[in-house]
Amino acid sequence: MAVSGGRADHGLPCIFDHDDGKHVMRKSIPAVTKRKIAQESRSICPFCGEDDVSTGQFHHIKPVAEGGTNSLKNLIYLCANCHSKVTQGQISQSEVLRVKGMLAAGEHPHSHNSVASNVIHADFTGGTNKGVVANKVEKVEIKTTRKSVSINPPVGAIGSSLPHKNYVKHLIDRYHEFKKIEVRQESMKYPIFYQQIKKRHGAKWDMIPLQLFDELVMYIQSKIDKTKHGRVQKSRGKKNYSEFEEYLEKGIIRLTKRPRAPIL
Ligand SMILES: [Zn+2]
Repeated sequence: MAVSGGRADHGLPCIFDHDDGKHVMRKSIPAVTKRKIAQESRSICPFCGEDDVSTGQFHHIKPVAEGGTNSLKNLIYLCANCHSKVTQGQISQSEVLRVKGMLAAGEHPHSHNSVASNVIHADFTGGTNKGVVANKVEKVEIKTTRKSVSINPPVGAIGSSLPHKNYVKHLIDRYHEFKKIEVRQESMKYPIFYQQIKKRHGAKWDMIPLQLFDELVMYIQSKIDKTKHGRVQKSRGKKNYSEFEEYLEKGIIRLTKRPRAPIL
């Protein structure tokens, strides 16, 4: 690939990443990817609302030096000013991931116009669930051959934001892992905890609104701490789980679909 002028796509002179002492060749971001990423942000900086496209840049969420790619999931459009805030750590990685999650779900912190899209919008009433389920489903996919209906979590639900969704799933798995030590394998009833969450929050865990994320997380964490194993671990001064921020920093969030070994 030709390297011209020593400048990368975002206009900053960093065609090489020096962070880790190694020189890593950047592959320029394909035009089609740039267009899609700019569209995702409606060409408005999602951090400050800057809409002057001449300041628009592209940020690799997982740095190229650390193996970050030019995939849609790894790129975010932002203004030059916010880009330097991100690289200097004034805007945290978890904030970047949170905002990326919103954008990927069709939401924008600084623009509330609906995006033109060809996904089907359908009203969804959550049956016995009252009020807490957002009433719009982003996409309804009906596979007639298999007679199965899959409904993507609505915009604004925990399931619509990858980092939040992965973290909650991580905690639920941790709870089951600990509970399994307490009860015999064969008497382990996985649906129970999901039902408890649903009963408490009025919706299936991934349909719970993002505003209730902290509350849900605190609830699951307290359930983990209350398991026999959780109490033992705690008494030994061991942590039962990572906090959301730590979880993000550990890079457990899979920005790509490549399978990874689970990290405690
Ligand atoms: Zn900005």
